This record gives sequence, structure tokens and C-alpha cells, in this order.
Amino acid sequence: MRRPGGVPSGTVTASSDGLDRRAFLGLSARTALGLLAAGAGAQPGRAERATPGETMQRQPSSRTGSVNLFLCGDVMTGRGIDQVLPHAGDPRIHERYVKSALGYVELAERKVGAIPRPVDADYVWGDALAELARVTPDVRIVNLETSVTTSDTPEPKGINYRMHPDNVSCLQAAEIDCCVLANNHVLDWGVPGLEETLETLRKAQIRSAGAGRSLAEAQRPATLEVPGKGCVVVYAFGSGTSGIPPSWAARADRPGVNLLRDLSEETARSIAAGIRAAKRPRDVVVASLHWGPNWGYEIDREQRRFAQMLVREGAVDVVHGHSSHHAKGIEVHEGRLILYGCGDFLNDYEGIAGNEEFRDDLALMYFPSLDAATGKLERLDITPLQIRRFRLNRISQRDASWLRDTLGRACEKLGTRLELNDDRRLALRWA
Ligand SMILES: [Zn+2]
Repeated sequence: MRRPGGVPSGTVTASSDGLDRRAFLGLSARTALGLLAAGAGAQPGRAERATPGETMQRQPSSRTGSVNLFLCGDVMTGRGIDQVLPHAGDPRIHERYVKSALGYVELAERKVGAIPRPVDADYVWGDALAELARVTPDVRIVNLETSVTTSDTPEPKGINYRMHPDNVSCLQAAEIDCCVLANNHVLDWGVPGLEETLETLRKAQIRSAGAGRSLAEAQRPATLEVPGKGCVVVYAFGSGTSGIPPSWAARADRPGVNLLRDLSEETARSIAAGIRAAKRPRDVVVASLHWGPNWGYEIDREQRRFAQMLVREGAVDVVHGHSSHHAKGIEVHEGRLILYGCGDFLNDYEGIAGNEEFRDDLALMYFPSLDAATGKLERLDITPLQIRRFRLNRISQRDASWLRDTLGRACEKLGTRLELNDDRRLALRWA
């Protein structure tokens, strides 16, 4: 059964440069200005929401004794993607050059050809759905990098993501169990936007972690029962290093994000102590962290120490890091999986130039299998996909090789290796 978990301290305030790192450096003013006139065409639709209640019961995956997860990075279904989904919201946005979310659809179409509109709720997941059906993970966890709202009170930050609440059907189409919300976009449309996000997910029976109407709610983990195996307990934290403004920190009486004070050893220890105190036998604990800059393979020394400390203190079994737009290196520390940056999984960037060398069009599905009793990593399979026309597609052998080489080099620095299989999937190897 569900239960509230421990509330680790070490989160509340943060120092941050407050920058929004989703600023699109490659979008020239000239190109963008051409989009100012992008038409409005919102199609308000009717909601088909599930009734509130407990989680969906899914057949446990076949490997008994193992808990199998699906993890990925940023699922950015707002803005341009929201405009092609069945219930497109108000396209008006308040960016410097682009004034309609449809501008991002148009930009992408100029590069990759026509994108159908409206699409079915499951369209964006494309070939990921067949992968999920093949692997049958017990629990599916994503970082939801958008507010889910019709709120029209943008935060003054230049980039504001929102997805219409009726488009939550898109998350349901992939049977997402848990959305991590401790990121730099969940409050893009203010507190009303956050509250509507929380309420929409609750009604859709999708659990969330990392943001709430109070500090206690923002800190509370999502506990997902895996019948016959145990529980997966998801704690989510945001770091100022990902661009979350300090003012977004949840307080006792203020809605917001579960924001880390810093990435110090002391903070890691105190969080680990809180988690450890709440941890029960057969709990597999995931610490989901939105941290670090958007580009580059370098892993900050502070981040590495922080992740290792959460593991070493006997608290965390999987560190699920995200914020970087591309996948970063993977480590196995004391038998536990550390993903430093999972990369973007869905975005509307196809028409945006810049940073192509990082290939943020490649999206990775991480499928770790963990020993249900110990939380130790048994295997990690990765299915790489490519975002094209706002949809996930199987990648070419050439792209898979590029990923094996590039991400593999980042992994080698952390003591792991990537193997490419004949089926264009990757497997992690470690000593
Ligand atoms: Zn982010």
C-alpha cells in the first residue's frame, strides 16, 4: 500500500543563477521574427480523465526477484508538442522572438517536413510503445519538463512551457506511473499552473514527486507498489544548477519545488539519513535529480560526490539524473546505478539550430533491472530512439554506433562500458 515516506532535510533554499537554460541560442532573430505571425488555432477539447484512485495494476514483468524500471530524461510535451496533441492549448507564449507555440511546429516542419495535427494521444511515443510492450517494466518514471495547465500567468523568465491538461492523455497513453516535477519548468505559469499540474496528474492516476502545495508535499516521495516484489520509492530534488530560481523553493506555507540547498556532502548526508530512516525491506529507492547544465559530458565533481554519497550512505539504489539535453556518462557505484544525465526524451527542438554535435535528437530509454531484495543493479539495457516529426523512432545502425562511441567514452571515464547489440540496443557492462 501507499504510504508517505520520510522527509529528508537539506532542501529548502538554493543559490542559483536563475538562468533559463532552455534559451535557444541558435534561433536567429530573423528566423524567429518570421514566426511572430504564426497563427492561433487552439482547439479546446473534452477531457477524458480517469477517475481518482489507486495505481493501475499492471502485470509484473517476468523476471521474478528483479524490479524492472523504465527511466528517461526530460519529457517536454508543452509548447510546440502541445500544439499537435489532441487538445492544443492557447498557443500564445511570451518569448523574445516567438509569440506563438505554433512557431516551433513551423520551425520543425521547415526542417523535417509536415507534422500531422492533431495527432492521437500516443503519437509522440512512436516506437517507444513497442519497446515498453517488449520489456514490460514494472514502473515507468519520467521527468515531466512542463507545466500542465491553462493558467495564463507566465513567470517572467522568457521561456514558459505549458501543456493543456486534457493532453495528459498523452502521458496515459504510455502508461507513465510517476512524473518527476522538481525541475525548472513546472512553475513556468506560476503557482496556479503548478496546482493544476498536480491536480491533473492526480486525476489521471499518475503519481508525482518533487513539487507540491507545501514543502511537506514537495518532499514526499511517490511510492509505487510492485505486486509480489516490493515498492519503488521515488524521491525527487531540483538543484539551482539546472536553472530553478530560488524563489521556486517550496516552503511550509508556499507551493513550490523540492529544491536542494546545495550539492554539499552535508546536504547529501542529511537527505540520505531521512531516506534511510523511512526505507523498508524490499523498497527500491530512486533519487531523481534535476541538475547541471544543458550541454557537455563533463560531470561536476560536486555532483559525482553527491550521487556517490547517496548510494554509499545506504539510502539510494538508483540515481536518476537529468537536465542535460543529451545523455551523459553512467556509473555503477557499490553495485548501484548512477545516471548523471538521461538527456531529452521528447522536445520541440527539431527546427532549432545549435549544439548539433551533442545530438539532442537522440532519446534514450533506460531499462535497469534491480535485485528486488538489495536494490543492486543486475543489468542495464538502453534502447536509443530518435525524435523526428515530434515522434520517437528507432535509430539507424550508424547513429547507434555514434552513440556507443560517444556515450561510451563518457562511460569509460566512470569505469563502465557500453556494448552495441545487433538490434541497435545498448547494454552497460561494469566490473
Ligand atoms: Zn530543465
